[in-house]
Amino acid sequence: MHDLTRCVHHPAVSHDGFASLAVPTYRASTIVYDDAETFAQRGHRGFDGYTYGLHGTPTTRTLEAQLTGLHGGVRTILVPSGQAAVTAVMLSILMPGDRVLIPDHVYGPVRSFCTDYLAPRGIEHLVYDPLIGGGIAELIDRRTRLVWVESPGSNTMEVQDVPAIVKAAKAKGALVGCDNTWATPLLFKPLAHGADFAIEALTKYVGGHSDLLMGSITVAELGLRERIKLVLRDLGIGVSPDEAALALRGLETMGVRVAHMGRVSEAFARRLLHSPVVDTVLHPALPSCPGHAVWARDFKGSTGVFSIVLKPGAEAALAPALTALQVFAIGASWGGTRSLIAPQAIAGDRTATPWTHPGVVLRLSIGLEDPDDLWRDLERMLCALEPASGAAAA
Ligand SMILES: *Cc1c(COP(=O)(O)O)cnc(C)c1O
Repeated sequence: MHDLTRCVHHPAVSHDGFASLAVPTYRASTIVYDDAETFAQRGHRGFDGYTYGLHGTPTTRTLEAQLTGLHGGVRTILVPSGQAAVTAVMLSILMPGDRVLIPDHVYGPVRSFCTDYLAPRGIEHLVYDPLIGGGIAELIDRRTRLVWVESPGSNTMEVQDVPAIVKAAKAKGALVGCDNTWATPLLFKPLAHGADFAIEALTKYVGGHSDLLMGSITVAELGLRERIKLVLRDLGIGVSPDEAALALRGLETMGVRVAHMGRVSEAFARRLLHSPVVDTVLHPALPSCPGHAVWARDFKGSTGVFSIVLKPGAEAALAPALTALQVFAIGASWGGTRSLIAPQAIAGDRTATPWTHPGVVLRLSIGLEDPDDLWRDLERMLCALEPASGAAAA
């Protein structure tokens, strides 16, 4: 063998006795086959076999299997973002003439996907009140293939009655998909409540360090996995094993991170009830949050994300008060180690249930900093808002 060949042929080394706790990162586009016959037959390996790096490596399969176990599902499919997880489900289920129901508090880009992508292709969507519960039965007609739920909802935190919605959907032959990003499978398992798809933005709590984008879809039935994988294969969508490795690492500490963040977020939410500039605290663990009773019934606890509605007038001093924050960072996305805060525009997004709170909505994501440092930062910000709000004078 000449040197140039030696450069590209890796010698086989022994793996005997090498028992590492880490999941190896297998990078691959090409998968090689022992003989021409096996290569010719590769199409028969199915979606659980290995045929091409895009369709799975032992690294991505490990993460998928771990999420499947956590969700109590049948298979999990990884995609490049949480948004892609939602759209992959919709693209695999909906055909022209079909209809999908989405809640009014849905993650913004999902609504855009329905209006900008699905609608021009003859797929209708209907926006419903997130608190509709079993009343959704009246909205499910013969064309309705999919009911989408997101609980609690992005920014406004309404907790949905997933069991009641599932019951109504099943009775009329519609599938149910649930965006479970806030709860993670540790605090709520949509498939155990009858949903057909549980999607997670792994970008948030699974990744946990604000440095990766990934989404997952866990299905309750093998046939649903097949439909999604066929769409992803045609679109050429897969994930990088390097990012899957980061997600596998994040998953190992998710339990302690989420438990801590949930404790701190609940404590802060209760304290914020007493702030003179806070009108409403939208935290599922508090009775002031729509759907709180459902949360108490169905969820095992809280994560670190919640919102507050400021009293009208407080927004006058908001921009400099946010800029002056020293521990909280201003930013969207969430679930990382750094605490975040961001004002959210709500009213313009609502179409089924008017948003009647006149004050600004601030979304908070609690990270892993010392809670005392965080609270002092928050208190300083709220104090800076006081002179601007009518409440302070009252
Ligand atoms: C962030 C988020 C998404 C999208 O995840 P990306 O990975 O950022 O695309 C979807 N749903 C919810 C509820 C989210 O918070």
